[in-house]
Amino acid sequence: IPISEPTPPRKSIPEKYYTVGNASQRASAAIVILARNRELPDVIHSLTQFEDKFNARFQYPYVFLNEEPFTEVFKRSIHALTSASVHFGLIPREDWFQPEWIDEERASAARKRMKADGVLYGDSISYRNMCRFQSGFFFRHELLKPYKYYWRVEPDVQFSCDIEFDPFLFMQGEDKQYGFTMALYEYKKTIQTLWLHVQRFMESNPTLISPDNALGMLTYPRTGTAFYNLCHFWSNFEIASLDLWRSGAYMKFFEYLDSTGGFYYERWGDAPIHTIGAALFARKDQIHFFDEIGYAHRPYEHCPHGSAHARGQCGCDPAQSFDAKEGSCLEWYDGLFA
Ligand code: GDP
Ligand code: MN
Repeated sequence: IPISEPTPPRKSIPEKYYTVGNASQRASAAIVILARNRELPDVIHSLTQFEDKFNARFQYPYVFLNEEPFTEVFKRSIHALTSASVHFGLIPREDWFQPEWIDEERASAARKRMKADGVLYGDSISYRNMCRFQSGFFFRHELLKPYKYYWRVEPDVQFSCDIEFDPFLFMQGEDKQYGFTMALYEYKKTIQTLWLHVQRFMESNPTLISPDNALGMLTYPRTGTAFYNLCHFWSNFEIASLDLWRSGAYMKFFEYLDSTGGFYYERWGDAPIHTIGAALFARKDQIHFFDEIGYAHRPYEHCPHGSAHARGQCGCDPAQSFDAKEGSCLEWYDGLFA
């Protein structure tokens, strides 16, 4: 195990958050999993590890969401692998499917063009529904109303280190709003006009923007907000505040973006939308890099270095960690605090 510490040195999680969960100390939080019935084997794969590394001790409730009802087999299989409470929810039709007012001719032309261009999921409608739902709707689902924080988990991911601190109590105690493990550059072809709309929104709503925002990690410093560097947090992992998305500022931002039709006329991902939203509406010190959490989602993984690797007994190779690889834009995040 390499003993070298990461550069720049990271602030570690304060000892007081290394609490093996007990009900009286738990935060108001849920593990949120959007999935299809046919992804059951991949969900089991993720949850077996998630339980082993974290939740068997902490017992945070699970909320599963789907635009179709989960099957009995799905539900039974999940209950079998956790003693935490589990809730299965149906997504309201109007929160998922392509709205009536979208010009389907224009949308299908865009899908064809993107497919021809080799854009990942370029021709998929369901992927677009998913990205729009994750951008603007999941946090308003009935089953998430009781909670303040969530941890997004996807099918077929890995957790490679013991997590013995409570990330939700950390978020709450340190006044954090958004936590991530990997940051990378978006495919420009999926968000051709997104930044233009972000600029328009900023111009019309200057008072909604946080004075100590994190725009510095997304824009070229010398030119103000003129260019988006395409950096975004990889949102298949998120530990974040539901209230950030439920805020009037973010809701207005989402409604504006949605009204442009860009989720369907282009292929806007929830990752850049969440990233830009967090950067605009939170303070930069409320955005947290969870260096201690070993996590993999194909084709990338984040693996802690140095003492965090040893403490978590991580089953991953720090040399393979995405942070220092080509394609990572973590340096832009670090630049906020330099
Ligand atoms: P990728 O990570 O961007 O390659 O996309 P994924 O296929 O992993 O999808 C992201 C998340 O949305 C995962 O949690 C999927 O299970 C979920 N998801 C994607 N498409 C659908 C869908 O059509 N219905 C439902 N219920 N979930 C979906
Ligand atoms: Mn995925």
